[in-house]
Amino acid sequence: SKTPVGFVGLGNMGNPMAKNLLKHGYPVVAFDVFPEACKDFQDSGAQIMDSPADVAEKADRIITMLPSSANAIEVYTGSNGILKKVKKGSLLIDSSTIDPAVSKELAKAVEKMGAVFMDAPVSGGVGAARSGNLTFMVGGVEQEFDAAKELLSCMGANVVYCGAVGTGQAAKICNNMLLAISMIGTSETMNLGIRLGLDPKLLAKILNMSSGRCWSSDTYNPVPGVMEGVPSANNYQGGFGTTLMAKDLGLAQDSATNTKSPTPLGSLAHQIYRVMCAKGYAQKDFSSVFQFLREDEN
Ligand code: NAD
Repeated sequence: SKTPVGFVGLGNMGNPMAKNLLKHGYPVVAFDVFPEACKDFQDSGAQIMDSPADVAEKADRIITMLPSSANAIEVYTGSNGILKKVKKGSLLIDSSTIDPAVSKELAKAVEKMGAVFMDAPVSGGVGAARSGNLTFMVGGVEQEFDAAKELLSCMGANVVYCGAVGTGQAAKICNNMLLAISMIGTSETMNLGIRLGLDPKLLAKILNMSSGRCWSSDTYNPVPGVMEGVPSANNYQGGFGTTLMAKDLGLAQDSATNTKSPTPLGSLAHQIYRVMCAKGYAQKDFSSVFQFLREDEN
C-alpha cells in the first residue's frame, strides 16, 4: 500500500488537489490554520494534524499550497514548521505561487536538513484543480522530477520540468504578467469598440479571427453577454481573484527589479490591479477590469 502524503494548505485549490491524491489511493495527512478548512477535509477521509511539523513526522512526501511567500516561510521554517521534524530524504513540493527568490531560500534551508525541495506552482484554477487537469511548472534538481511527477500527475494533466529551483515560479509569474496585460488590453479594446457603436459579440468575433486574438478575448472574454460559463457572465464571481492577480503582478515586479528587466506594461498592470483592490474589486474575478474601466460611464 502507498505511504502517506502530507498536505499543508487546504484552501480553494489545496482542498480539491488533496482530494485527488485520496482518489488515487494515497493516504493524506494534512494541516491548515483555518479549522473550517480542516473539518471539510477530515470528512473526506484524511487525517488532520496539529502543525506542519507533525505532518512532516508522519509523511516523507509533502505538498504545500499556501497564499503567499510569508505563509510559505512560516510553514517551512516557523517554530512549528515542516523543518522542525522533516525526515532525511523527504521530498517537499511547494505549489503556492510565491517569489522565486523565496523558493531558492527555502530550498537551501531544506537541503541543510538533508531533504529535497521543489517549486511546482500551478495554472488552471479551481475547476482544473477539481478535475485533476492542472498544469504544474516544476523547478528543482532534475533527478528528483520523476518522484515529484508521480504525485503531481494525480492532480494535473501537464507536469512540466522547467529547470533549477525557482524556475517553476518564474514560468508562472511570467504567464500571469502576460495574462494581466492581455486582459486589460482586451477590456479597454472592447470598451472602445462598444463606444464606437460596435456590438460587443460581433467585435469579439472579429478580434478572434484577427491578429488581436488572445485567451482573454476568445476563452475568457471580460464583457458580460459575449460568452457563457465565464465569470463575466456571472457578475465576475468565482474564477481568479483580483487580489491574487495583484499579488502575482507584485512578484513579477520584484523579479523585474532583481533582474533589471524593463517591464513597463507589467508595472502599469500591477498598479491597475492594486487600485482595483482598493476600490471594491478585491473579491471579484480579475476580468472585472472591464467593469472598472467603465465606471466613469455617463
Ligand atoms: P486560499 O486562500 O483559498 O487557500 C490557502 C489556504 O492556506 C487557506 O485555507 C489558509 O487557511 C491556508 N494557510 C495560510 N497560512 C497557513 C499556515 N501558516 N499554515 C497552514 N495553512 C495556512 O488560496 P488558493 O486559491 O487555494 O491559492 C493558493 C495558491 O495557489 C496561491 O499562491 C495562488 O496564487 C495560487 N493559485 C490560485 C489559483 C486560483 O484560481 N485560486 C490558480 C492558480 C494558482
